[in-house]
Amino acid sequence: MNPISHGSPGNDLTVLESGVHYVCQRCNACCQWPGDVRVSDHEITQIADFLGMAESDFISRYTRLRTNRTGLSLVEKENHECVMLENGGCRIHPVKPSQCAGFPNKWNFPGWRGICRAIPVPVPNTLGGKNSSP
Ligand code: SF4
Ligand code: SF4
Repeated sequence: MNPISHGSPGNDLTVLESGVHYVCQRCNACCQWPGDVRVSDHEITQIADFLGMAESDFISRYTRLRTNRTGLSLVEKENHECVMLENGGCRIHPVKPSQCAGFPNKWNFPGWRGICRAIPVPVPNTLGGKNSSP
């Protein structure tokens, strides 16, 4: 039986809280969830460059077809954690995919708070700030 996947960006289940930003505590729980870690063409170029690899080598070694066959995902280890999780951290942190950078503030799923240790921080009210409309 396949383990439960915790969804991905673009799902219809994301609920965002206005006025709150969640600060990641790097607990790595989301890197150990089963499921796709989407990588775009642009991200593949960035990651391969960061790792000092040819794109073709990176693609053949570290990616697979996404579950819905619409593009590529990073591969996972036998225990389902991401192949880029090494020594308690992300090997490609400076260029990690937007799927990783966007969780949980840009996408999430029901029950995510029970698994993620990110700390909610109030976002200051920017009304009247220099970037607001007159
Ligand atoms: S987003 Fe949440 S689950 Fe992922 S590493 Fe940060 S605190 Fe952990
Ligand atoms: S690429 Fe990095 S941040 Fe994203 S799931 Fe893999 S180890 Fe975690």
